[in-house]
Amino acid sequence: MEKTEGQLLQEKLFDEKKNGWEKISQEIGEKIFEYAKGYMKFLNQAKTEREIVTESEKIAKENGFKNVEECETLQPGDKVYYNNRAKSLYLAVIGKENLRQGINMIGAHGDSPRLDLKPNPLCEDTELAFFKTHYYGGIKKYQWTTIPLAIHGVMIKKNGEKITIRIGEEEDDPIFTITDLLPHLAQEQMEKKLKSGVAGEDLKLLVGSIPYNDEKVKEKVKLNLLNILNRKYGITEADFMSSELELVPAFKAKSLGFDESLIAAYGQDDKVSVYTSLTALMNIENPNKTAICMITDKEEIGSMGNTGMESHVFDYFVTILLNKLNLKEPNMLEEVFCHSRMLSADVDAGYDPIYNSVYEKGNASYLNHGIGINKYSGSRGKAGGSDANAEFVAEVRSLLEEKEIGYQLAELGKVDVGGGGTIAYILANKGVNVIDAGVPVLSMHAPYEVTSKYDVYQAYLAYEAFWNE
Ligand code: MN
Ligand code: MN
Repeated sequence: MEKTEGQLLQEKLFDEKKNGWEKISQEIGEKIFEYAKGYMKFLNQAKTEREIVTESEKIAKENGFKNVEECETLQPGDKVYYNNRAKSLYLAVIGKENLRQGINMIGAHGDSPRLDLKPNPLCEDTELAFFKTHYYGGIKKYQWTTIPLAIHGVMIKKNGEKITIRIGEEEDDPIFTITDLLPHLAQEQMEKKLKSGVAGEDLKLLVGSIPYNDEKVKEKVKLNLLNILNRKYGITEADFMSSELELVPAFKAKSLGFDESLIAAYGQDDKVSVYTSLTALMNIENPNKTAICMITDKEEIGSMGNTGMESHVFDYFVTILLNKLNLKEPNMLEEVFCHSRMLSADVDAGYDPIYNSVYEKGNASYLNHGIGINKYSGSRGKAGGSDANAEFVAEVRSLLEEKEIGYQLAELGKVDVGGGGTIAYILANKGVNVIDAGVPVLSMHAPYEVTSKYDVYQAYLAYEAFWNE
């Protein structure tokens, strides 16, 4: 049947949103599934910011990247990285153009919501031993009880010796858990508001129960555990003071659904952006503009500190590049930033039909509709948000359409329902043109987050196209 005039006009004028799977060939579908395998493997290897930096540095080195501090000078085509205290990593591929004409940056964060151990964590109560915790980032506390947890991190002895700990990931490893009240006795708890049903101080990790066999000793279970840890790692209780031990879900990343179209995994905010941008950067050879990939830390608690994006360590990295390229004029750093562009690679809230009331359907990010672009963030009238300039949005849109990459423009939830932010504003404040661009996620910040393999692949393509421009 022939289309009516109205139908044709509609095709021309309406912005039709379409599910990505309906637009791709079987061959591309296979590529998407193959790419997701590498991503899931990466997620299983790296669950903390330190592990993210270790794994990413390893991948970079395998692809010819060198420690920038070991390079005397730099030339176009060079690939370098800077490891900031094992918790954040900056990578660059030097472009053909002069750096003062600007850099193309993509920035993701390697930290994810979790539970950290307190400085004096070990305690015994009624013949059970626990680690006390202090949660990190925005979590719904009840989600962290009664799930298998692993302990990842480092302990630094007084003499500087670093002990790396990772228990709960191997098949034969024990796991740990935080208990919750049985429903039979939870009448009072169940009357509480969801946010106070489980208190922060009650997130105590169960770590052991066998007493040390000596009548004269108090806290026998605690002693027995310290004895085990001392024999295994050579540590004493005081060594916990100089440690960073993080509790993360012991779950493995898995394909989700009969059609295996989705990925369920811990920490996809924002490891999905780390992996997609990092793997995209590995494909970049001799770009026009210098390509920089930032893997930052502490985003979930406000980006402060010397491993967070607010620190000047990133400026220092760009300064190293300038110096080694022999670009040494006053205000060069500011000039570079004012001519630069950036995709702030961070996840987007995927539309969840079960909780439809918090989204505005016409301006939400949908799973399988591609990378989510947020022109602005913030809350209560965009407050505190970074708002990209329309001119820059047009540039990004034009690029994605030219390369036929699935994308959608969205905002985080209905007006006045909530809001959020990313590292976008930090670079925007330096003069960079920045926009948020990342994969939509369901159950964001939960121990098990969900993404779509199609969207993950579109993010990878988008980041590669941005650097190759
Ligand atoms: Mn994030
Ligand atoms: Mn987050």
